[in-house]
Amino acid sequence: MTFDAERARKDFPILRQRIHGNPLTFLDSAASAQKPQQVIDAISRFYESDYANIHRGVYELSMRATRAFEATREKARRFLNAREAREIIFVRGTTEAINLVAQTYGRTNVSDGDEVLITQMEHHSNIVPWQLLCLEKKAKLRIAPIDDSGALIMEEFEKLLSPRTRIVAVAHVSNALGTVNPVREIVDLAHERGIPVLLDGAQAVPHQRVDVTSLDCDFYTFSSHKVFGPSGVGVLYGRAELLEAMPPYQGGGEMILSVSFEKTTYKGIPHKFEAGTPDIAGVVGFGAALDYVMSLDPRALAAYERDLLDYATEELAKIDGLRLIGTAPRKTAVVSFVIEGVHPHDVGTILDQEGIAVRTGHHCAQPVMDRFGVPATVRASFALYNTREDVDVLMAGLGKVREVFG
Ligand code: PMP
Repeated sequence: MTFDAERARKDFPILRQRIHGNPLTFLDSAASAQKPQQVIDAISRFYESDYANIHRGVYELSMRATRAFEATREKARRFLNAREAREIIFVRGTTEAINLVAQTYGRTNVSDGDEVLITQMEHHSNIVPWQLLCLEKKAKLRIAPIDDSGALIMEEFEKLLSPRTRIVAVAHVSNALGTVNPVREIVDLAHERGIPVLLDGAQAVPHQRVDVTSLDCDFYTFSSHKVFGPSGVGVLYGRAELLEAMPPYQGGGEMILSVSFEKTTYKGIPHKFEAGTPDIAGVVGFGAALDYVMSLDPRALAAYERDLLDYATEELAKIDGLRLIGTAPRKTAVVSFVIEGVHPHDVGTILDQEGIAVRTGHHCAQPVMDRFGVPATVRASFALYNTREDVDVLMAGLGKVREVFG
């Protein structure tokens, strides 16, 4: 079956507008994806009829809200094929999930002289939490290099797994390059040495179905807002044995069994890690987003996005002076590029006048920019609502850039 993007587009009301007099061409879903009507409706319905604080109330509304909130946990479990719903922890997003693991698992398991292994293609949110940990613990942050195409050099990665490596943290898919990492192989190599693996799935889940049980990873994280849900919500999946052994991240209400000034006892997982009132409606909207993506045919969507990526890559190659950054054989639908003699921000500004939304900058991956010797790139990223026509509009917009800059 082929994926029907025209039909999917109709679910996204925001796309039906003009920007500076031109139809909106939204090519920045890697930064944050747009929301289908189903998600918008789920949030307003929840506020209109079911809203109350969760877990504590004995009254009908609170119980309804709790059921809706916990239903999303079960959806996230199904989405990731985790074994148990208690392995799903709600967080603010990928950034908070990685900080949680660094500050709990990391602080109890990493000490002086130990090593944390990441890669050169990580988003800042999978670098800085580990740097903070390493600084505190006098541990070393090791960086596995990437090649000129933006693919991880697996032999180097393997060499960097040492008897002192306490955790490996790797992007499933790179946001700046689109590279898809061989995560199953990474997990196997680390596990052979008894090292746990965290996978940053922020850029993977909008494009492919992920199965944490068959990947066998120890932690997996993603953000709702990149998978067509609201911002401010995300998931940390963790293997139950690890989560149970980890100390709490934040203290407060919701995460305790009993509190006295002498001693506090904590709830079990997942609640131990969910202090305070969460973004309840956000989690409900996230559930609607998970329903939305789970209703799609993953193979048809992958083939569709592959075609878009190939088409965009072919078309961009026709532009003189354009250099693609990120040409790994396994990629998601992201094209990052620079045009000789034109600053990426100028490209972005001219495209905006045409109604085209692309991201320009370092994409929170400055080490990637350093690796390729550029300060910034233009990044067009595609989601299920993009079409070949969007690529044509982008090409026409880049034609305008050439007119302005000669
Ligand atoms: N990792 C990757 C690969 C990302 O693309 C992003 C978002 N750009 C993040 C982590 C951080 O996600 P969030 O801002 O939702 O916490």
